Amino acid sequence: RPRIGVLALQGDVREHVHALEASGADALPIRRRSELDEIDGIVIPGGESTTMSKLLGIFDLFDPLAERLSDGLPAYGSCAGMIMLASTILDTRPDARHLDALDITVRRNAFGRQVESFETDLDFVGITDRAGAQPMRAVFIRAPWVESISPDVEVLARVPEGPAEGRIVAVRQGNVLATSFHPEVTGDRRVHEYFVQMVRR
Ligand code: GLN
Repeated sequence: RPRIGVLALQGDVREHVHALEASGADALPIRRRSELDEIDGIVIPGGESTTMSKLLGIFDLFDPLAERLSDGLPAYGSCAGMIMLASTILDTRPDARHLDALDITVRRNAFGRQVESFETDLDFVGITDRAGAQPMRAVFIRAPWVESISPDVEVLARVPEGPAEGRIVAVRQGNVLATSFHPEVTGDRRVHEYFVQMVRR
């Protein structure tokens, strides 16, 4: 089984640990820099990105994690985790640092102008396009959206309908995966299984 860390400074760590364990990985909460040497991939959970940014600094994890990511450590960020992985953030605090592992521009709390939280069914490239697959239930909680991407970023999912129709909410660039929504809260393991497969390869 691959060993996958879950950044455990803040946010919905337990849900990701459970989802990873159910998807064929050994999950390790990560709070110290030495623990970064023991993992084959990392999940950055949902929570609050400006707080997570601050805590990464306080726990002396920011630079070691950024370094492992630039060395190619596979990573999956959900919601605040997507914000942490992105290269450019709109509507954040000026002192918030981010890990710059994914060439996307993300807008924080982007849906907030319409609704704080909502759910929808969506198509996810590589998952719901398999024969007989169901659409994916996506839960958005004060979520970001991806405002723009660089050419080598692949769009995996968009909002299918409503005022935010067409907004990008899942992307992948090489070893880095991110979703605006929270698959760890639905019981649908397919995004975690997809990430475990990425780590295996
Ligand atoms: N709004 C949060 C942030 O800006 C993200 C919300 C979430 O992770 N559910 O970090």
